[in-house]
Amino acid sequence: MDLVAYRILIKAGVEISRLKRPVRRILNKLVTLYGTYGYDLIITSTYEGTHSPSSLHYSDEAIDVDDPPDHKEEITKKIKDSLGKDFDVILESDHIHIEYDPKG
Ligand SMILES: [Zn+2]
Repeated sequence: MDLVAYRILIKAGVEISRLKRPVRRILNKLVTLYGTYGYDLIITSTYEGTHSPSSLHYSDEAIDVDDPPDHKEEITKKIKDSLGKDFDVILESDHIHIEYDPKG
């Protein structure tokens, strides 16, 4: 059996070192999930870029990942299910937005 390793790719200019711990901890789950579909995980935004003023991107609690080329809804749902209620996962027009937003 071939062992195939999928990767986390980071778009040029995007910085992941400031991400809060709960968000950093999901990256392994995400890359594994994308890998089961044969895709690398591409992080397209963290705190840089333009987001709404109240966005959790600015507090390093949100990331955008490139939406997969296929199975977009299915993968979004699987991300939601695996991260649980403390995360909001939204399929946008060209990416998936994921934020840590614990509900007390
Ligand atoms: Zn976003």
